[in-house]
Amino acid sequence: MEQKRPLIIAGPCSAESEEQVLATAKALASTGKVDILRAGVWKPRTKPNTFEGVGVEALPWLEKARKETGLPLAIEVANTKHVESAMQYDIDIFWIGARTTTNPFSTQEVAEALRGTDKMVYVKNPTSGDVELWCGAVERLLACGVKNIGLIHRGFAGYGTRDLRNAPMWHLALEMRRRMPELPIICDPSHICGNRTYIRDISQQAADLNYDGFMIESHINPDVALSDAKQQLTPQDLSLLLDNIKWREGESDSLSYQTTLMSLRDQIDSLDGEILQLLAERMSVAENIGRIKRENNVRILQSLRWESIAERTLARSASLGLSIDFLQTLLDAIHVESINHQNKVMKE
Ligand code: PEP
Ligand code: MN
Repeated sequence: MEQKRPLIIAGPCSAESEEQVLATAKALASTGKVDILRAGVWKPRTKPNTFEGVGVEALPWLEKARKETGLPLAIEVANTKHVESAMQYDIDIFWIGARTTTNPFSTQEVAEALRGTDKMVYVKNPTSGDVELWCGAVERLLACGVKNIGLIHRGFAGYGTRDLRNAPMWHLALEMRRRMPELPIICDPSHICGNRTYIRDISQQAADLNYDGFMIESHINPDVALSDAKQQLTPQDLSLLLDNIKWREGESDSLSYQTTLMSLRDQIDSLDGEILQLLAERMSVAENIGRIKRENNVRILQSLRWESIAERTLARSASLGLSIDFLQTLLDAIHVESINHQNKVMKE
């Protein structure tokens, strides 16, 4: 079976100077592993008075880098002016940044500016975990006749992450893939991680989830980068990282693999069945509790009782080998469903 060939987009967070763009582009091209050169021309920064990109001045530097390396160019566009300037330099690929995807006015404006283009347009996930917004941005592009669309998963802000800048929330990206299976999805481990330490692990996880490629930030001298210094890799380190990623096969013909897999899947199916059966039984007990509460004129929600269930369950996290986050989500879902069942009998 042929080894999967993922798409690699790499380049600096920001184009800072002609020398930096050319040196980075040449070093990336010489690895032979990079397909597309990225660079931020206009930078959407969280805080004012930080480096906001050099703007149109960077476009001739990128054009020169393309000429000297043969690498097609990808930049972020966030408004009509950006698109018009980029089109003047025949930029090959665009991406819509996370902050732009968050705003329907902005995505609509960019979609209209890109109307009818054949160029590839990638849509980064919005900063919040709202899959509808991500879908919405894609739908706006489609409605404007943009045919070549891809997704970039760059993680989600503010979900209680400690080590990572943006929580990956893989399930949201997988949900996007389920809804739009025809779109390629690439992972941006740089913005998920926010620092160099975890880029390898996150990239491997994306490879194991069968992503179509990566966008990774790379700077000729990361420590002096004007934006996202901590998360950028030298072209050499990027090359090493790419060498070490295992792109596993989607399938195997081995008989022992197939039989073992089948038996493990049988176990999963039967455990899932038992879990559902137990949950249904739990809900019917909750209904009985609802009935006796109704008969005795007691209200449904009894916070102390629920707090003690939650405390007892979370305390078992380590011994069960289940994360606190997972147990919390599971308990919340069970609690809401139980209350709904009790509500139903209260109304009988
Ligand atoms: C970027 O790619 O440099 C960038 C600003 O990313 P995001 O929109 O994901 O924050
Ligand atoms: Mn960046």
